[in-house]
Amino acid sequence: MSDDHPVSIPAATPSESKSSGKYEFFKAIQAYLDQAAHAVDLPPYITTILSQPKNEIIVNFPVRMDDGSIRLFKGYRIQHNNLLGPYKGGIRYHKSVTLDDIKALAAMMTWKCALMNLPFGGGKGGIKFDPNEVSRAELQRITRRFFHALGSNIGPETDVPAPDMGTDARTMAWAMDTYMNTVGQLFKQAVKGVVTGKPIASGGTQGREKATGQGLVHCITEWAEERDFQLGGSTLLVQGFGNVGSHTAVILSKYGASTIAVGDHTGYLYNPERFNPHKLQDHVKRNRSIAGYPGGKAITREEFFRIKADIFIPAALENQVGVDEASALQVRLVAEGANGPCHPDGERVLLERGIDILPDVLANSGGVTVSYYEWVQNKRSESWSLEEVDSRLEKAMKRAYREVGELARQKKVSLRVAAYGVALQRLAAVYGEREIFP
Ligand code: NAD
Repeated sequence: MSDDHPVSIPAATPSESKSSGKYEFFKAIQAYLDQAAHAVDLPPYITTILSQPKNEIIVNFPVRMDDGSIRLFKGYRIQHNNLLGPYKGGIRYHKSVTLDDIKALAAMMTWKCALMNLPFGGGKGGIKFDPNEVSRAELQRITRRFFHALGSNIGPETDVPAPDMGTDARTMAWAMDTYMNTVGQLFKQAVKGVVTGKPIASGGTQGREKATGQGLVHCITEWAEERDFQLGGSTLLVQGFGNVGSHTAVILSKYGASTIAVGDHTGYLYNPERFNPHKLQDHVKRNRSIAGYPGGKAITREEFFRIKADIFIPAALENQVGVDEASALQVRLVAEGANGPCHPDGERVLLERGIDILPDVLANSGGVTVSYYEWVQNKRSESWSLEEVDSRLEKAMKRAYREVGELARQKKVSLRVAAYGVALQRLAAVYGEREIFP
């Protein structure tokens, strides 16, 4: 292992793929919905309902910053659909958050929950700011004011947020505590399930922190078995080394897969002799980024996408793989830890080049699945062992992987369209039974 010499990291290059022009994430999701609806003969009225979110909540709230000034923040909570159960989905803190992106991400949560057979609908929220540029105390005040502003729009039986990019278990502890303090003493202990992804001592579950990475790895091992591909000795490119990217790299290292290049919002690093994912994960936990990690050579974003490896794991933002990146990538598999990392044009190039894609709606649904286990444990005042959580997750991911593969073969569509398709079939069955109020 050669992770011992300090390197300087260049400033990050633009995060968006440059090759595909303006990216309209929500429009891309609507186009996939149309394709999948066509593939599974969805009644047109259901496509119409699902093409827009049910509720779009926007709140503006003031926060006192450490220097005494007052800053106004804009927060979103999009509630896409609640046919199957309470809205469910993460809260994102990132400087690029837009209403359009949150609408896209909320719709994807509807598909994920339906695909995974969870009694949840889809939602997503976020605040447009850079969490790396505020202090811990400011972060706490921003979180508490946001959740206070959301008020009774959320709740354990209404809408259940969770961590996403820029938020974590600590954020969820503040969110839960804020909500608990608004419902009065009588109900305080009954509302732990208002958010998931909490720290274990505050009502979280074993296995949630690594759940998205763990679920992604189950999909990758299923793919490897299907393709007769040996994970032992294989190589990985990982973009984004936060929750999803780092846990995926750590878990895959147990199968003998080596991370040889990583990138985040501060830049990209290459180490042909492989990174130690545990050490890099510890570094990121301490320093909030890979910057300053004493191992690997600083490379550009363009160089990162040209490195020959077996598997690319996007685990950062959407719209990272446009035509240029898809043409440059020399991998066999793109396993989408992030939501929407491939631009539709980039996806087309990857598929034309024979590169497999494990689509986000399937591949990163381990997080919401274990969030559901947390919610059930909160309801029943239980705490399950890690073994129990892990074995339930494994069965759930493998079942979903099989169902998506079967529909893709039957309808001759991509795995992405098939993942949407399985979800839509489940939603259609319920709409068919209940019909539309009044
Ligand atoms: P995180 O905040 O823990 O990590 C995000 C990572 O992306 C960080 O390493 C950050 O530096 C990097 N990043 C940010 N901007 C970047 C840029 N411009 N270029 C390159 N890298 C950049 O977030 P996370 O929870 O790991 O989420 C990552 C992705 O996975 C998101 O798309 C999220 O929606 C998706 N996801 C997360 C979960 C979950 O359980 N956390 C579940 C499903 C999907």
